[in-house]
Amino acid sequence: MYDYIIVGGGIVGLSTGYALIKKYPQSKIAIIEKEHTLAYHQTGHNSGVIHSGIYYKPGSLKAVLSKEGGNLLRSFCTQYEIPYEMCGKVIVATKEEEVPLLNNLYKRGLENGLDVSMFEAKQLNEIEPHTYGLKAIHVKEAGIVNYKLVAETLAKVIQEKGGDILLSTKVEDIKEEKERIEVECNSRTYHTHYLINCAGLHCDRIAGIQGLTTNMKIVPFRGEYYELKPEKRYLVKNLIYPVPNPNFPFLGVHFTRMIDGHVHAGPNAVLSMKREGYHKTDFNLRDFSEVMLYPAFWKIARQNIGEGWKEIVRSFSKKVFVHSLQRLIPEIREEDVIKSENGVRAQSLTNDGKLVDDFLIVSNERSIHILNAPSPAATASISIGRAISERIPAPKRFLKYTM
Ligand SMILES: Cc1cc2nc3c(=O)[nH]c(=O)nc-3n(C[C@H](O)[C@H](O)[C@H](O)COP(=O)(O)OP(=O)(O)OC[C@H]3O[C@@H](n4cnc5c(N)ncnc54)[C@H](O)[C@@H]3O)c2cc1C
Repeated sequence: MYDYIIVGGGIVGLSTGYALIKKYPQSKIAIIEKEHTLAYHQTGHNSGVIHSGIYYKPGSLKAVLSKEGGNLLRSFCTQYEIPYEMCGKVIVATKEEEVPLLNNLYKRGLENGLDVSMFEAKQLNEIEPHTYGLKAIHVKEAGIVNYKLVAETLAKVIQEKGGDILLSTKVEDIKEEKERIEVECNSRTYHTHYLINCAGLHCDRIAGIQGLTTNMKIVPFRGEYYELKPEKRYLVKNLIYPVPNPNFPFLGVHFTRMIDGHVHAGPNAVLSMKREGYHKTDFNLRDFSEVMLYPAFWKIARQNIGEGWKEIVRSFSKKVFVHSLQRLIPEIREEDVIKSENGVRAQSLTNDGKLVDDFLIVSNERSIHILNAPSPAATASISIGRAISERIPAPKRFLKYTM
């Protein structure tokens, strides 16, 4: 019998396990992961950026937890000797009409307590010599790290402190009994006092089988990447972002120097026909038909028809993709980039057709569910784990000892 079972061995589930085992060292914890290895989905397919939190509405969970989480992440990396680099990033306006949006972002950065500077083109070129821009924001508090390595280290600490990590174990059913929750997996049944749902692309389904009524569904958006050929990596020093479209939840195609020296370019955002569909042709009937039969999806599809169409064209045409990249680095050519690994984002969409912007955490008496944890949830993960651990009750067995 466990005190806590966490569904999902991505960075959010592992950070939650880490926070709980630190808070309640005598508790019995299991993290259940359906894949044969940890961090197999979003956590292992992201851009590896430690976000500063500049974009987010002041006071929102994203703004608060990414700032606090970025600091906690850096301390964790230092403690466990995980390489990271606070290389800073630039957000660049390449058209006159983007300058007012950039000015608003600069104000937001200040409101979020960040060390931001507004650069003219000349200053931009001093740090990113190959980038074209009219104006840019330089954000010092942005960096790079390998989140898979962070996740694996969190798992190691959890195991050293007595927690169980159960791989290749898929949660298929959850039954609430009077004194405990029964978690049925492919191989066997586990029992727990409390359940924590960090299932990423499947969080809505786990919430559903646990009996929680939610007014949302996960819609999977694939992000496709290219990367610069090694001889062209000199074009990007650190992190180069466009001004994001304020009506769109994603940041636009950008350049990211990864901690291993590769330089990624992307991602775009196209609907995936499978929740864990990393290739264009990946298809799952249940996943696809759920989206197609969800009226809320058609509502946002109608509202974003122009942007959505552009993303689809960019997905099928390398020429168009590279053309978007040339906005930031005009000298890039089609032959300078090669296909890289894709990722799929779990984006929560409410029944009334709104893309959930902030992190969404919902709880009932015996369970808590993380129903929206898109970017910057990797940056914020240790802080999210801590916030979750503060919302849930102390272990029952533990209470018995202390009463
Ligand atoms: C393309 C892309 C780029 C991104 N870039 C960044 C970035 O640069 N910086 C940043 O901070 N964030 C970034 N993010 C966001 C970040 O990666 C995610 O927010 C974060 O990884 C979410 O972690 P998670 O643990 O919630 O989900 P996941 O990593 O997806 O983990 C969920 C786990 O649950 C498991 N699971 C699901 N169902 C079951 C079941 N029934 N039984 C057992 N296990 C189950 C899955 O197998 C999976 O391993 C990016 C995301 C993507 C997709």
